[in-house]
Amino acid sequence: MALHKAREQAGSSADDVFASPLSERPLSKRAIPELPTPPDIVFQVLRNELLLDGNAAQNLATFCTTWADDEVRRLMDLCLDKNIVDKDEYPQTAEIESRCVNILANLWHAPDGGGNAVGCSTTGSSEAAMLCGLALKWRWRNRRREAGLPTDRPNLVCGPVQVCWEKFARYFDVELRQVPVESGATGLEPHQLRDYVDENTIGVVAILGVTYTCTYEPVAEIAAELDRIQAETGLDIPVHVDAASGGFIAPFLHPDLSWDFRVPRVASINSSGHKYGMAPLGVGWALWRDTAALPADLVFHVSYLGGDMPTLALNFSRPGGQVIAQYFLFLRLGREGYRRVYEACAHTAQGLARQIADMGPFTLLYDGVGALPAVSYTLTDPDSRRWSLYDLTDRLRMRGWQVPSYPLPPDRQETVIQRVLVRHGVDRDEIDLLADDMRRAIKELDDGRPSDASRGGFHH
Ligand SMILES: *Cc1c(COP(=O)(O)O)cnc(C)c1O
Repeated sequence: MALHKAREQAGSSADDVFASPLSERPLSKRAIPELPTPPDIVFQVLRNELLLDGNAAQNLATFCTTWADDEVRRLMDLCLDKNIVDKDEYPQTAEIESRCVNILANLWHAPDGGGNAVGCSTTGSSEAAMLCGLALKWRWRNRRREAGLPTDRPNLVCGPVQVCWEKFARYFDVELRQVPVESGATGLEPHQLRDYVDENTIGVVAILGVTYTCTYEPVAEIAAELDRIQAETGLDIPVHVDAASGGFIAPFLHPDLSWDFRVPRVASINSSGHKYGMAPLGVGWALWRDTAALPADLVFHVSYLGGDMPTLALNFSRPGGQVIAQYFLFLRLGREGYRRVYEACAHTAQGLARQIADMGPFTLLYDGVGALPAVSYTLTDPDSRRWSLYDLTDRLRMRGWQVPSYPLPPDRQETVIQRVLVRHGVDRDEIDLLADDMRRAIKELDDGRPSDASRGGFHH
């Protein structure tokens, strides 16, 4: 094809974006198009398509960061070309990653001020959970081998965990022993453990911020029960804390709560930098109490500034910007900044909980006090209502709010709940507007018809 002809087909930057060949035809969806198109045109067309996604700021289902300072965006841009795996080429990025690990070891009270703690950044809590789960499995297997005992049936004991632990169990061939949630409880209760742990238990996962209800499982009490079990049976079972969300909340809002390395039985902790750590999507953290908690044969060594650097990861290449942004946030906010942001979030969540309690149809499962800045609730008497929480989700969605309804874990599946998370960037007024929309939606659902207002009429 002649070049001038090709140009004509592809469009030129002189065209109006919406009079260009690309915007006149459906986009190529199954093969790379033959011809190039000016970037501004492609950008506009894709921007329009992305408008069909939900609006992240109104997504009250996600724990993940949806708001960023301009400086975070600029740092992310500066780091676009940095591969965090290339420690030798980008030694400052590697250095900043290790500063973050030290900061978290200190925040989570690793012994000796964190000097012996080991850890790494990951793509999120899921990868961190895989690494921490593997460390538990390796330690258990080494102990069993030394004792000449079989190593073919490892199990991991936990409550209502996030799906990443089901993945860990399946991918790495570990039996997941999920303890059913007792009626009236929101997570694993210490007294349940006895019936589930045995000589093949590689560890117990305690969750700081249960995904379903946003409460904390009682880490110290779980550890104390394992102390009693050890005294009686000799089984020495480590605890891993899945602090995906709570790891960046508890240190600031509940500093006296003992859930971290202050509890001697806690061997490792994971958390999501991209949740309440406030970093952009794509960073998590895995930390071990000390080198004894992380078997040496899981660690690889790379060269770094002429020296040797231990690394541990499932991924190889990964962007460095999220880790830099995490360090920016530590420096930018300080402890005081994190505390103020989350006090504001907690007050907003507690205010919403009071409004939801007053609306009538709901029973609160969690009122935003004592754990994550969030609210969870259920319909008090679902059978006598003509609508379900799923209907309420749909009506709220008409105003752009994303407040999903979902069943509790398998053993409590008959209970459907809703959950609202209050994060950095979600303010009090926005939540009041949500509450107004909830009241309006409830009235419409009770009446069994949409109100005139929601049909869009301005006449009455
Ligand atoms: C979100 C979450 C995870 C998974 O974390 P990602 O960072 O999304 O991979 C694991 N556990 C809990 C309790 C969570 O809330």
